[in-house]
Amino acid sequence: EVRVRFAPSPTGYLHVGGARTALFNYLYAKNTGGKLVLRIEDTDQARSTRESENAVLEDLTWLGIQWDEGPVVGGEHGPYRQSERREVYKQYVDELVARGLAYPCFCTDEELEAQKRDAEAKGLPPIYRGRWARASAEEVADMMAKGTPHCYRFRAPANQEVLVEDAIRGDVRFNTSAVGDFVVMRSNGLPVYNFCVAVDDALMRISHVIRAEEHLPNTLRQVLIYQALGWSTPTFAHVSLILAPDKSKLSKRHGATSVGEFREQGFLPDAMVNFLSLLGWNDGTEQEIYTIEDLQEKFSLDRITKSPAVFDKTKLAWMNGQHLRALPSEQLLPRLVRGWKEAGLLAREDSAFVSASAALVQNSLELVVDAEPELRRLLAYPLADTLASAGAAPVLEDNFLEVANAVVAAWDAGELGGAAAGEPDAFKAWVKALGKAQKRKGKRLFMPLRIALTGAMAGPDVGEILALLALEDGDVADRGAYV
Ligand code: GLU
Repeated sequence: EVRVRFAPSPTGYLHVGGARTALFNYLYAKNTGGKLVLRIEDTDQARSTRESENAVLEDLTWLGIQWDEGPVVGGEHGPYRQSERREVYKQYVDELVARGLAYPCFCTDEELEAQKRDAEAKGLPPIYRGRWARASAEEVADMMAKGTPHCYRFRAPANQEVLVEDAIRGDVRFNTSAVGDFVVMRSNGLPVYNFCVAVDDALMRISHVIRAEEHLPNTLRQVLIYQALGWSTPTFAHVSLILAPDKSKLSKRHGATSVGEFREQGFLPDAMVNFLSLLGWNDGTEQEIYTIEDLQEKFSLDRITKSPAVFDKTKLAWMNGQHLRALPSEQLLPRLVRGWKEAGLLAREDSAFVSASAALVQNSLELVVDAEPELRRLLAYPLADTLASAGAAPVLEDNFLEVANAVVAAWDAGELGGAAAGEPDAFKAWVKALGKAQKRKGKRLFMPLRIALTGAMAGPDVGEILALLALEDGDVADRGAYV
C-alpha cells in the first residue's frame, strides 16, 4: 500500500515550495489509492508555533489537499506532532544503545570545538573523533553515576558506501565518512531532527518519501537509522528546486511566495493547484489546464522532472483566468458580486444587469479582483473623453475623430435608439449604416467606434456593453458617480 507524508515544520507560512511538495504527495496517494499522512515537525521548539501549524493546515485545506491521517483527523499511527512523540524517540535511542549501535558521549562543547579545529588543521572532515566511541562500560557507568551531561551518538559504520535509489534522481551514492558518529539525542534529552524523521517514517509505515531536493543530504543519516533498526527503507523521490524567472532561488524579493498571499490576491485554489502541479511535473502532452481530478488521475512519479522548475507568475495569472472562465456562473457570480458589493458599486445584487455584467467581464478577467475596475470602467466611460483623448491613441491617425464625432453625435441625437436600448440587431444595423456613411469597414470602422463608446481599445463586444448599460436600472449604487 502506498503511504506518503507531508511533514511541514510549523515555523512560518506555507510556501509555494511546501505546497508543491504537499500536492505531489497528495496526488500520488490519490493516483495509487494510497494514504497521505500529515506530520508536524515541531522539534525546533524555539521556532515552532501552533499559530503557524494552524495556518499551514488552513492553506492545505484551501488548496483542497486533504490528509488521511494527521492532526484534526487522527489515525492509528499517531500522535502526529513530533513534540508529542518524545517517548517514542527515547525508546529507540535506548534500543540502539542496548545493541551497541549508539553510545553516550560526554564530550563538552569545548572538547568538540578543539577536535574540530584539530581536524581542520589536518585537513580531515569534521566528524566526531572523541573517545566515547570506544569507552569502557565502567568508564561510562562512572560518568553516568556522576550525572555528567551527555548526548547520544549513532555509531556510523566507517567509510562505507550507501546507495540510495532515488525515483527522480536515480542512483545517489553517499559515504558514511561524510557524517561520522552523528548525534541522535541531545544532552537536553531532545532527539535530533534526522532521527525523528527516520523513526516516524518507519513507524508511520511510509512507503514513499517525496520531498524537496534540499533534504537529499539528510537521506544518508536517515537510511543509516533505518538499517540499524532493521527497517526497510522507503522509496525516496527528491523533487527539484523552484527557481524565480531570473534563475535565482525563489525568495521574498520576487514578491509573494506563500500560499496565503496568493489567496489574498484573489487567486483560485484550483488555479494554484494546476500551476503548482506543473512545477516539475508534466503528463507528456501539451495540456496545461487541469482540474484536481484530472491531476489525480494522471500524476505519476516517473514524469517528475530532474531539472529545476521556474515560478512564472504571469503564467499563474493566465491560468487563473482560464480557471475563472471555466467556473459555472453559480460559482463565479457570488464571487464577483461580493467584490462589487464591497466596493460599494451595487445597489441591488440580484438582477439581470448583475448577471449580464458577470457574463461580460468573465472572459477578460485574470483575477476576481479585476472585476471591480472592469465594471467601473464599463459603467463610467463618458463619451466626451473620447474627443479629449483621441489625439493620444496611436492607432488612430486614420481620421479617427471623424468616426468618433459621428458616433457621439448619433448618441446625442438619440439615433442609436434600439441599439442603445440593448437590441443587438438594432446595434448591428446602426453600425452598418455608420460604415456606409463613413465609407469604412473592418478595423477602420470598429476601432474608432469601440474607443468612442467604451474608451478602451480592447474589451468585450461593444454591442454587449451597450446592452449591459441599457439593462442598468437602479442596480448600481450611485450611477451618477460613474457616468
Ligand atoms: N520538516 C521538513 C520541512 O519542513 C520536511 C522534512 C522531510 O520531508 O523529510 O522542510
